[in-house]
Amino acid sequence: MLDRGSILLFRVRGVPIRGHWTLLLVLPYLAYVMAVQFGMTARTAGVPPEELALPPWVWGLLLAVSLLASVVLHELAHVAVATRYGGKVRGITLMLLGGVSHITRMPSRPRDEGLMALAGPATSLGLGALLLVGLSALRGGSPDLRMAVFYLGSINILLGLFNLLPAFPMDGGRILRAVLAARMGTVRATRTAATVGRVLAVAMGIYGVWAGSLMLMLIALFVFVGAGSEAAAASTRAALAGLDVASLVPAWRRVPETIALDAPLAEALPRMRELGRPALIVAGPGGDPIGVLEASDVARAPLEQRLTGSVRDLAPRLRNRHILVQPGEAAVDAIERAAETGARHLILLDPRGLALVSTPDIAAALELELARGDERERSATAPHLGGAGAR
Ligand SMILES: [Zn+2]
Repeated sequence: MLDRGSILLFRVRGVPIRGHWTLLLVLPYLAYVMAVQFGMTARTAGVPPEELALPPWVWGLLLAVSLLASVVLHELAHVAVATRYGGKVRGITLMLLGGVSHITRMPSRPRDEGLMALAGPATSLGLGALLLVGLSALRGGSPDLRMAVFYLGSINILLGLFNLLPAFPMDGGRILRAVLAARMGTVRATRTAATVGRVLAVAMGIYGVWAGSLMLMLIALFVFVGAGSEAAAASTRAALAGLDVASLVPAWRRVPETIALDAPLAEALPRMRELGRPALIVAGPGGDPIGVLEASDVARAPLEQRLTGSVRDLAPRLRNRHILVQPGEAAVDAIERAAETGARHLILLDPRGLALVSTPDIAAALELELARGDERERSATAPHLGGAGAR
C-alpha cells in the first residue's frame, strides 16, 4: 500500500528501505526549527551556542538524518526478530510519522509477536542510554560532538518511550496484546488492545488540538484507523485458523471450471454464465493450469477477437494473477501467500479436478466462520468455566 509514493533508498541485508514523499516535509521543517531556535537547542544540550562550529541549518539536517537513522535501526530490530520467528518481511518505509515495517507474515505465536514488538523500543532505549552515558566521558571534548551525541541519544530515548505507549497498533499496544492473548485468546486480546488504542488515540488527538501539534493529531489518526483494521485482520486470521484451503471450495462446485487454452474466446462467457462465476482456469494441452481468464478480459478484448479469436490470444495477460495451492495447505497461509504476490486467485490442485478459489469464496467462508466464531470461543473456554474444583 505504501509502496506508492515512495522510492527505494538502500538495502540492508536484502531488506529494501524506502523513503515516502512525506519525508520531504520533515527535513526542511527540522532545518527551520533549528535555525529559529538554535540558541535554545544548544543550551538544552548544555553547550554554549557561540562555541559551535557548524551553522544552524547543518544542525537541522544532521538532526533530521539522525532521526531517520534511529528509526531505521528501530525498524531493523523488529525485522530481525520477526524473521527469526518465521515472519516474512517485504521492506521498511520511512515516512512523516516514523517507520513502518511491512511484515507480510507475522510470527504466529503471541509471545513471539510480543518479542518482535519489544525489540524496536528496546533497541532505541538501549542505544539512547548508551549514548547519554557516553556523553559524560566527552566532557571537555568538542562542543559539536557533545551536542550531536546528546541529541542522537535523546532522539532514541524519545523514540523508544513513545513507541511503548500501549496504543495498538504501536509497539506498546502489540506488547499489551501479546500479554492479554496468553489469558483470553488472540481475537479478544486484539479487540481489547484495539479499544485501549482507540481511547488513547482520542486522548492524544484532543491533546494535539489543545497543544496545537499537527504531528500529534496525525499520529492519533494513524493509531485510531490502524487499531480498527488490525482488529479486523486478527479476527479474519483467527476465524479461518485450522481451515483447509480445499474447504473453501464447496462440494457441489466439483465440476471442471476450466477452459482450454485453444478454445474459442467466444465460448468463455457462456461457460462462465453456465457456472455462475466470472472467472475460469485456463488449462494447457496437458490439462495443467496456465492462468485465469476473467470476464473483464473478454469485455476488454476487441470485438473481432471476441468473435473469432482464441483464449491463447490473451494468454500473456492471464499468467500472473494466481498461485497454485495443494489440498491440505492451511487456508490462512494460502491467502497470505496470494497477498504477498498480489495474486487474485488460488488454483486448487485437487486430484478430482482443478478448482478456482477467488475473493468471493474467501469472503463467503469468512462470513460463515465468523458467524460460528462465538460458538467456537465458548466451547474453547467452557472447560475453564466448568473446571473442576474451586480456586
Ligand atoms: Zn516499533
